[in-house]
Amino acid sequence: MAYLHCHTKNCGWSQDDFWYFKLKNPFYIIKDNIIRRKPYISLGKNTLHFNPRFLGYNPLSLIIEDLFEYGRPRWIGFDSFFIEENNFKYRQGKEFKEVFSWRLLIWNIKRNINSLFKQKWWAYKYWKKDYDNGAVCPKCGERNFDID
Ligand SMILES: [Zn+2]
Repeated sequence: MAYLHCHTKNCGWSQDDFWYFKLKNPFYIIKDNIIRRKPYISLGKNTLHFNPRFLGYNPLSLIIEDLFEYGRPRWIGFDSFFIEENNFKYRQGKEFKEVFSWRLLIWNIKRNINSLFKQKWWAYKYWKKDYDNGAVCPKCGERNFDID
């Protein structure tokens, strides 16, 4: 994965890691599950763990990941700062403020759909092509890109 951002002082522009779509060979999913014990789908404590990276890294794979993470209805404890920053409705749990899982699911799905419109360069190849043609930072107009 590669995180594109701008190094111009006080600019702060950045975007999500470049996306890629790659359907992983089902043979390797089975091999990873059985031989390497690195499960793509496994039953954990009360929850189904799922590694969606068999579809690469993109909004669809992230939504699938969220469905598995937050699909089961339950209350999940979070840091107060995260709850207040995002204005979540919550209940007070024993230790933490808790948000209902489906609220997080909807929030994450919206975020991933929004990223389709906000992500300036979806994949490295599009950025590289634009960069070679003189692309500048969409915020400050300089050419101080960095990729981590
Ligand atoms: Zn910039």
